[in-house]
Amino acid sequence: KNINHMIGECVNSRVLMLLGQLEKINGEAMVRDAETARQVTAKILHLIQTQGESAHTPTCHATSYSNTRDVQTILNILYILSELLTVGKGRRVGVFVSKGGTGILFQILLSNSKELPPSEELMLQLHSLLAKVGSKDRKFGVKARLSGALNVTVNLVKQNLQNAKLLLPCLQVLRVYSTNSVNAISLGKNGVVELMFKIIAPYSKKNTSLLKVALDALGALLKSKTNARRAVDGGHVPVLLALYLDWHRNDTRHRHMLIRKGLLVSLRNITNIKLGRKAFLEADGMRILYNSSTECLPVRTLDPLVNTSSLIMRKCFPKNRLPLPTIKSAFQYQLPHVPAAGPVAQLYSQPPGVDDVVDESDDNDETEADTENDTENEEDEKDHHTSNDDIETDLNKLHPKKNPGRPFEELRVYERFFSELSEDFQLPPSTSTSTPPAPLTPLQLDTIHLSKDQNTKDEAHIPSTDGHATLSTLTRPPPQGQTIEQELAHVLECVSLDVDVPLNAEEGNKGVRQEGCEVSATRQIQSPLLLGGIATRHCGSEGPEDEAGEGAVLEVPDTALLLPLHDPDVYVEMVKGTHSVPQYAEVAYPDYFGHITPTFREPHQERVYGVQRSKIFQDIERLIHPNDILDKVVYDLDIPSCPVIEDDGESLKFNSQFESGNLRKAIQVRKYEYDLVLNSDINSNHYHQWFYFEVSGMRVGTTYRFNIINCEKSNSQFNYGMQVLMYSVQEAISGRPRWVRTGTDICYYKNHFARSSIAAGGQKGKSYYTLTFSTSFRHKDDVCYFAYHYPYTYSTLKMHLSKLEALRTPQIYLRQDVLCETLGGNSCPLLTITAMPESNSNDHICQFRNRPLIFLSARVHPGETNASWVMKGTLEFLMGTSPLASSLREAYIFKIVPMLNPDGVVNGNHRCSLSGEDLNRQWQNPNPELHPTIYHTKSLLQYLAHIQRAPLVFCDYHGHSRKKNVFMYGCSVKETVWQSNISATSSDLQEDLGYRALPKILSQIAPAFSMASCSFVVERSKESTARVVVWREIGVQRSYTMESTLCGCDQGKYKGLQIGTRELEEMGAQFCVALLRLKRLTGLRNHQHLLDLESDIIGSHSCPTTYVMDEDEPSFLEAIDYSAESNDEDAEPENEHGSEPSVILLKVCYSHVFRFRLI
Ligand SMILES: [Zn+2]
Repeated sequence: KNINHMIGECVNSRVLMLLGQLEKINGEAMVRDAETARQVTAKILHLIQTQGESAHTPTCHATSYSNTRDVQTILNILYILSELLTVGKGRRVGVFVSKGGTGILFQILLSNSKELPPSEELMLQLHSLLAKVGSKDRKFGVKARLSGALNVTVNLVKQNLQNAKLLLPCLQVLRVYSTNSVNAISLGKNGVVELMFKIIAPYSKKNTSLLKVALDALGALLKSKTNARRAVDGGHVPVLLALYLDWHRNDTRHRHMLIRKGLLVSLRNITNIKLGRKAFLEADGMRILYNSSTECLPVRTLDPLVNTSSLIMRKCFPKNRLPLPTIKSAFQYQLPHVPAAGPVAQLYSQPPGVDDVVDESDDNDETEADTENDTENEEDEKDHHTSNDDIETDLNKLHPKKNPGRPFEELRVYERFFSELSEDFQLPPSTSTSTPPAPLTPLQLDTIHLSKDQNTKDEAHIPSTDGHATLSTLTRPPPQGQTIEQELAHVLECVSLDVDVPLNAEEGNKGVRQEGCEVSATRQIQSPLLLGGIATRHCGSEGPEDEAGEGAVLEVPDTALLLPLHDPDVYVEMVKGTHSVPQYAEVAYPDYFGHITPTFREPHQERVYGVQRSKIFQDIERLIHPNDILDKVVYDLDIPSCPVIEDDGESLKFNSQFESGNLRKAIQVRKYEYDLVLNSDINSNHYHQWFYFEVSGMRVGTTYRFNIINCEKSNSQFNYGMQVLMYSVQEAISGRPRWVRTGTDICYYKNHFARSSIAAGGQKGKSYYTLTFSTSFRHKDDVCYFAYHYPYTYSTLKMHLSKLEALRTPQIYLRQDVLCETLGGNSCPLLTITAMPESNSNDHICQFRNRPLIFLSARVHPGETNASWVMKGTLEFLMGTSPLASSLREAYIFKIVPMLNPDGVVNGNHRCSLSGEDLNRQWQNPNPELHPTIYHTKSLLQYLAHIQRAPLVFCDYHGHSRKKNVFMYGCSVKETVWQSNISATSSDLQEDLGYRALPKILSQIAPAFSMASCSFVVERSKESTARVVVWREIGVQRSYTMESTLCGCDQGKYKGLQIGTRELEEMGAQFCVALLRLKRLTGLRNHQHLLDLESDIIGSHSCPTTYVMDEDEPSFLEAIDYSAESNDEDAEPENEHGSEPSVILLKVCYSHVFRFRLI
């Protein structure tokens, strides 16, 4: 070994010596002794060839000799380089590039190309070396263009089309040139696209490695739109398709996958332009790729071909129009006044006859020319985009102003909602009977006219109803005694949270009911379920079976005995007082029966391999085999007389004419497949995501496919394990009244329905997304409901609030006021919960009045029903009898607006109120007429700020559709400044860490809560949300949005499970417990001590703050979206985020916090 080493050293020194000689010759600036140089280089070459492992140092020296004119010497040097660069796994290539080697090679290439004819061997060696170096040199393309090497290579290719030996390295270099977008344009001008087509066609297996390289180069060239157009104009699209078919047929053993893939990549890039898609369709591309892909499907190794084919077909699929007369909501609501600049004015100001379903943007109208100043340094560009421009950088806006901005005279009227704060508060005379504090009548502000206009309802478009699914055969004997009872008893055991279900001894009948549940837990109801027997459905057939159905009596489990806050009778009473724009007269069974959380676990649905691809293929078949498509409308809100078309027994029956329902149209596309269209939010033309509808007339054991075809978000948790919810009436009758997670083959992807720019914020060429799921039904003659998430109607809230009254004890102070009326004529409840003062003694009254306030709200977004379930958990806990609950009531006064948007909830909206606006973007300047609930809620807070009683905590409960777990958004100047690179003085950054305490406590006690998902950054786009306005204007440091997942958890105790109402309610209860812990911290007088304690809780190490703007799911290989710019060579493009903000995930080490505190 030693000897070998010594020999090695000798050889190396010999090399160095020779190099020294060379440098000496070189140093004389002119080669006088060509023979010597030739000999020296030959010797080095010999040494290197015999002694493979040599130091990399010679590389640089060797190239410094490049100004020689002697071909043999140059060749020797090139051979040396070739030997040196072959070993060492690219490390040497890196050194070579960093020492400027590429430039020297281009110089040699250029100077020797001037000789005619150039030495073939030299050109061959040069290009081989360049090909080797090219992939490692990021500036290779620029260097080539600036040195003038492009044309040298192109000319060589043109002159040597038959000379495979020289052609191969030239094409390899050309391939690298072409990856630079500016080069690609210039090469295209020089006829290189045509040149490549000469090499790849016609079909021949003769020189496949040449073919492969040429295809790669072509694929790169065709990314340029000019080149793509050139290829279309040259008639090459049919050529590519024919070639692809030839290879598909002849490559039976799949040895030439890369060539087949290369052909598809060229097609994919050509079809990025409109002209290319047109040529593809004209050349029957859909059928060719569809058929070939179908043949490839069984062979897993051919997946890349199928995936690329599917991508091309999706792009070229002609855009369809949504099967609607207009995308404006099927219902219109007349606003008291329509602001000229508002969305409603815009919505209804279109001239009559304008087709808003499709516009001229039905296909990408892109500019089909390249921008000449394509950037060279794409990497550098990307670096700049990591700083998000949505972060608030205006320091003035980052400093909370504690100025309510309104004169107290205006706010004084809100005093009436705070009688517990008044100086002359007295205990009710007889506490033993626990008379409730008298609820207030709704606020009648002189200046604010809130009474609804009765005429508006008549003007609203209200289709009459018909053909309700009858339950004639649902009449069945009561559930057989024991088993059902056992099951119910079991269910009952599992319903309770850690929260005590309080038993009010004073309410005799409640006790009886508790017993009753063990004896007989059923009640009888009329079917179908109509309000007070109002017969609203009289159009259509009135056959004898309908008659039977009307009078059918159902025996159902009595959920009033099983659920502390549920009572079907109360529910129906509540529905009668609920005002909907369509004037719904029906009650959906699930809301009537109630929901008892299932006892089994509901894990995330595992994604089936290739599920999206197979769904897309089924969609493409609609185009390939149009005769197989039924296209039968079975439900249509836009037909004024009857939403349900006909009943021939061959189709499912749909209905969603009940509170929170929002199905607009159902079309049977195949025997067991339905396209469903959701209604837009009222007075709007979009916001579809939430859904709630009823299905009947099903066949048992058959798998049905449902496609909701007008979804709008660019991704969904349906791609990451979330299932839809289903409620079966038959199951309910059998003792299992519950929503269960259902559906197989679920996926969410961009579809071929054009989205009008009118509904896409002016953006053209957008598409909708499809949520597809399959399911089968277990029961004959069942009525089933499907929903996006566990429904929670406004009537449900009213029922829960009325049942909460029953939980009152003499120790509990509970007051329910009506804060205001909504536009739609529904009242917006305001709750006050605290503990009664122990006595009328001064001390007790004083303690009572001075309790800190906690202000909570929820459900500003109607589609986020999970927020209501969390709120239910909070309310139930607050009214509980546990020691924790009483301590909590003694510690705080709770002010709660449990539903900020009743109208949106009632009418099945996803996002907006009746004003067609997102109420959580109105907090800066709410209009008393158009946004009454926000206006008055904000006024309550302004009033509190005025009397120096701003709440300790403000929290608005929301649901998050794209992330897992429960988490919070808060507001911090410091954390915003860190994320934004704005310069701020240390005094700007004086902020204590109080805002972190509550989420930190929650992450310790609530299993669904994840601190890692929390963010405390103030975003510009959120400046009119409750969280930011309450923080900035009211001066509440602990002002939060709490977001609950619609899907499930990926950490903690519930990892891998979908979330249910039990977990959501638990979250609401744990929120209360966390407030109690917070109390212990904030109760301390010594501020410094408090900070220390909080930092103990917060933890000083390894606690990163995360700023996650968007979903943070791992991507999978199937592209949900497909964009014209998809240019990923190996993998298919992953999650495109469309117009949504891109994923930003920045971590800041938490030690910073303490540095700032020291300042
Ligand atoms: Zn929300």
